[in-house]
Amino acid sequence: MATPLTADAMLKALKAEGVTVRESSGWRTHNRNHKGAWGPVHGVVIHHTAGRDSLNLCIKGTGSLPGPLCHAHLSKDGTLTMVGHGRANHAGTFARNAHEAVLRESTTHPRPARDEPIDGNAHYYGIEIENLGDGKDFYPREQYDAAVAYATAICRAHGWTAQSVIGHSEGTTRKIDPKGPIGSASGPAWDMNAFRADVQKRLDAGKPKPAPAKPAATKPVVDLSNVVAAARRDPRLVQGGTTHKAHVLLVEKALAAEGLLPKKWVDGSFGTKTVTAYAAWQRKLGYRGSDADGIPGMTSLKKLGERHGWVVKA
Ligand SMILES: [Zn+2]
Repeated sequence: MATPLTADAMLKALKAEGVTVRESSGWRTHNRNHKGAWGPVHGVVIHHTAGRDSLNLCIKGTGSLPGPLCHAHLSKDGTLTMVGHGRANHAGTFARNAHEAVLRESTTHPRPARDEPIDGNAHYYGIEIENLGDGKDFYPREQYDAAVAYATAICRAHGWTAQSVIGHSEGTTRKIDPKGPIGSASGPAWDMNAFRADVQKRLDAGKPKPAPAKPAATKPVVDLSNVVAAARRDPRLVQGGTTHKAHVLLVEKALAAEGLLPKKWVDGSFGTKTVTAYAAWQRKLGYRGSDADGIPGMTSLKKLGERHGWVVKA
């Protein structure tokens, strides 16, 4: 699915993934859509900011590179701030081989070719993760985990695998991000394959469980042929005589509830009073003449059952 998420869908996906989300003012309409395409979307690009306290820079951008410079900014403590929604100046141009690996969700991501004909800003969501990018500044665990959750949320919402997530340096030879140790200054260096594995693990773990099977309907069943047989036979029997008492009782209770049969005739015998009441039910449904003769038909009986908690079988 390559239609960009709506702002609401994005927020919902992120929150469902447990991301702590803040919203910068006006982010829903902060974009570069007047300068170029936005969508179809094919992936997520991971960036580091190469600076400190860069949220405002991400929102406003610079004279030569106006904001938004990403869709979301991730602070050191793992707080995600929505920056823009729509086309953003985060990716620049991408190599075709890198882009096509994302399109195929290839498990290998080639070194990007020098030629960059792809408009990355049109096709990728981007997150800027606060980090100096000097290879020494580390990503605290909560920041890394939030980045995994961000990428997972988008992949899940689009039905993508983790192979739709690339580092900026995987799309272009112009960039080195993301870079730096994870967890501590001596922690393992950021590795996009490991990051994708973490995203995929989270995607797999969070797959919605299949809905539990609904308990079988326990509604009572009224057999049409039994009720018809009773309606034809019972009026000729001694007063109160029954043919299919249990089924007729359900019908009579329903007719009584409809105000068509006095309670005292709810006795399981489809006698003349019940035939008269059933004819009134048929007329209530719009039947006339022989269609309202008081002998139940499938349609009228089904409608009665729907309103009174039982089902009809032919
Ligand atoms: Zn970047």
